[in-house]
Amino acid sequence: MATDQSKPNPVLAGFVPNKALGQNFLSSESIIEAILEQAQIEGKRVLEIGPGTGALTQGLVSRACFLAAVEKDGRLCELLRERFGESLTLVHADVLDADIPALMGSEPWHAVGNLPYYATTPIVLRLLSLLPDSMTLMVQKEATERFFAGAKDRVYGPVAVISGCCYAAKVVVNAPRGCFTPPPEVDSVVVRLLRNERSVSDGMAFLSFLKQAFSMRRKTLYNNLNKNTRVLSTLTALGCNADARAEALTPEQLLAIFESLV
Ligand code: SAM
Repeated sequence: MATDQSKPNPVLAGFVPNKALGQNFLSSESIIEAILEQAQIEGKRVLEIGPGTGALTQGLVSRACFLAAVEKDGRLCELLRERFGESLTLVHADVLDADIPALMGSEPWHAVGNLPYYATTPIVLRLLSLLPDSMTLMVQKEATERFFAGAKDRVYGPVAVISGCCYAAKVVVNAPRGCFTPPPEVDSVVVRLLRNERSVSDGMAFLSFLKQAFSMRRKTLYNNLNKNTRVLSTLTALGCNADARAEALTPEQLLAIFESLV
């Protein structure tokens, strides 16, 4: 695990971070190195989410064969264009709206980012629905529960289901709050997700299905899915109760039900 060796980020001189955009910039060289090492993106196609002042971008651009980044803050986009020029394909947009499939094309690609805390779950869900080959994501410590939750856990939901059936996930780096400028209120970790062989016919449709399946946690899956009778027959075929709730089903069972509906 990397240790905290924070030092001021020179690119930040005179820049006022926008708190509303979760701008806690990485300023620890050892953590930056640890993330780059864990990401294993040498010669790969990479999407960086929220490059900020370029703390990770610098190392990514020298390792990846193609680097795209989506940044919401126009001030940072100007700075990044000056710093990286044509070696970075930069999109000034909200990553939740950006056309990532068009940006990354049909070749395998990898996601890397120190995610803004205010939008961690929607960004993670967006990425999971696009099924990149790997994801190396810095998130606040509390957010990791969502990746590792099992059926019936309080935070079990779409994040745990997609990561559970499509990825092997583990925490690879711990980053105390002092590794950031300005420091956030809680500590962070890096979660690495590596895609497995499990095929999913349509990741975005799978995410829509899961959002609907978990929309009313107290309701049965059958009721949440508009009383579709195919849900009942698949539940029976899987040996599950007809009145099962989504929160009681494993990621594999939920994927099997989704695939039976498409
Ligand atoms: N990668 C940089 C680093 O590690 O120092 C910055 C990380 S900072 C935690 C999050 C970055 O995401 C900021 O640059 C912020 O402007 C950007 N950001 C916030 N919300 C975003 C969104 N919805 N879409 C794209 N970028 C966003």
